[in-house]
Amino acid sequence: MKQEQLKAWQPDQFDRFVRILEQDQLNHAYLFSGFFGSLEMAQFLAKSLFCTDKVGVLPCEKCRNCKLIEQEEFPDVTLIKPVNQVIKTERIRELVGQFSQAGIESQQQVFIIEQAEKMHPNAANSLLKVIEEPQSEVYIFFLTSDEEKMLPTIRSRTQIFHFKKQEEKLILLLEQMGLVKKKATLLAQFSQSRIEAEKLANQASFWTLVDESERLLTRLLAKKKKVISKLLN
Ligand SMILES: [Zn+2]
Repeated sequence: MKQEQLKAWQPDQFDRFVRILEQDQLNHAYLFSGFFGSLEMAQFLAKSLFCTDKVGVLPCEKCRNCKLIEQEEFPDVTLIKPVNQVIKTERIRELVGQFSQAGIESQQQVFIIEQAEKMHPNAANSLLKVIEEPQSEVYIFFLTSDEEKMLPTIRSRTQIFHFKKQEEKLILLLEQMGLVKKKATLLAQFSQSRIEAEKLANQASFWTLVDESERLLTRLLAKKKKVISKLLN
């Protein structure tokens, strides 16, 4: 997602981060609660760290680094997602190990962790240890849709930003993708993130399920009506 879209999507958070960048006060660990634009914001901030052709504090979106980050292929920006609902501690340890073994100092590294609530405390702690080193240039973005489930150690050591669901904007986006208003509204209400909504919008099996659920619900309601009228008569 390009920054214009991100700005339209989460204008307040975008402005706040631009100010943080202008003041050169980017923290080393953030907790982004809510999925609406949070991944995109983490990527935007990563671009601002690695862009080779910045316009003021803003990444250009055109240089090799910006493009690779957008495609999730930039070597120093690691995106970690749960596999089978778990973020394995070994995977985090391996990453942290690679990083410290290389003995790279003053080299920027960004970790973006999706569904960070699925991370084991040990994994979280090894990551947090890295950013506590005085010379560390590691930046970590913990992304979660369930802030309550986040470990207290993470919550207390990170700055929390909320990325509220932008239902109206999501409905518009889905309509632009070709969905009729009714379907767009239903999907916007159901989805936890833009990415999820876009994926489901194109999934025939999802809409079959919706149709079947609707039919089932209609039948159940009809049955309930019958029972009630029987009881009343
Ligand atoms: Zn750039």
